[in-house]
Amino acid sequence: MAEKRDYYEVLGIGKGAAADDIKKAYRKKAREYHPDVNKNSDAEAKMKEINEAYEVLSDDDKKAHYDRFGHASPHGGGGYNGGYGNYSTGGFGGFDFDIGGFSDIFDLFGGGRASRANRSGPMKGEDISRFIDLTFEEAAKGVSKEVSVTHLEKCKTCGGSGAAKGTVAETCTVCGGTGQVNRQQTSLFGTFSASVTCQNCNGTGKVIKNPCRDCGGSGAVRTTKKITVKFPHGINDNETLRVAGEGDCGKRGGASGDLYLTVRLQSHFLFERRGYDVVYTLPITIFEASIGTEIEVATIDGKAKLTIPEGTQNGEIFRMRGKGIQHIRGSGRGDQYIKVEVEVPKSLNSKQKKAIKELKGEVSESSFARRKNFVEKLKKL
Ligand SMILES: [Zn+2]
Ligand SMILES: [Zn+2]
Repeated sequence: MAEKRDYYEVLGIGKGAAADDIKKAYRKKAREYHPDVNKNSDAEAKMKEINEAYEVLSDDDKKAHYDRFGHASPHGGGGYNGGYGNYSTGGFGGFDFDIGGFSDIFDLFGGGRASRANRSGPMKGEDISRFIDLTFEEAAKGVSKEVSVTHLEKCKTCGGSGAAKGTVAETCTVCGGTGQVNRQQTSLFGTFSASVTCQNCNGTGKVIKNPCRDCGGSGAVRTTKKITVKFPHGINDNETLRVAGEGDCGKRGGASGDLYLTVRLQSHFLFERRGYDVVYTLPITIFEASIGTEIEVATIDGKAKLTIPEGTQNGEIFRMRGKGIQHIRGSGRGDQYIKVEVEVPKSLNSKQKKAIKELKGEVSESSFARRKNFVEKLKKL
């Protein structure tokens, strides 16, 4: 299959386009490519692409999802492919088209959305996306966390039918349950028979005479519940976990959507994360750097000893192999990197200064290679 084009590119707009601009761009493109006016062989495919782009970008939730994940939705299911289907070949045959003003182009497409998608069949529930804050330790070691999620659940009172107890949703007598009716219309091209959404049942094919009181006939109620989610060790900032079936419930027997939790990693007071490695800066004194020492340092497993060899320079980096974060898959671990920052004492008293002067006399300038090198350059000037 050819690579899907970016939805913004399809409509010829920028990422930051406002809802109004998206609508305008869609109208403009629809006028250009509608198969009733554009007789090029690819017009229908183009129109399909335009409709799909508009379907997503005109819906706040779908747009947010697309902005975050693009076509490559993290469930690996090929993103929006097929989800809004039914604009397949022949899909425009039944449209009446007003060449004059195109003013009712939105009516033709059912309110501007791909609502010709089978409204009377099972429909999968919407996915839900939200952020989850994890501490450095939680993400590094993994954590089971209680997450509160607000989603649509199938109404228990009516079992999702939307009809009050003891009643059932009846088949629409206007469309005979198909959700579509034929309408004769006259335009510049002559008289057409157009297939339009049945107004009596709103395209569902069913009419509820006595709506369920708990869900108002929708068959679903918005509920907030707590679920326990296991975040694996090694999960990182901006990574997304899918919790299957915890999105909105489906309609007419359709499956529930999924819940997508995207990690926002909180910063740590000492550790910094680079992939699976842990890094931080360790201050050591000029004396420790000069003669070397064994020093206590922090790791994500607790305290450990690090040997600082004599003659350690400012900015030198030490690697503690395998002391980083366990990979999200497999048993390997990252490393810990400690960058040394040599600290020079400030505000010394006269006794201390005297001691250092004596030390300075003991250590000749030739012991400072870079300093010596600079002095030689100075002489050349
Ligand atoms: Zn109900
Ligand atoms: Zn109907």
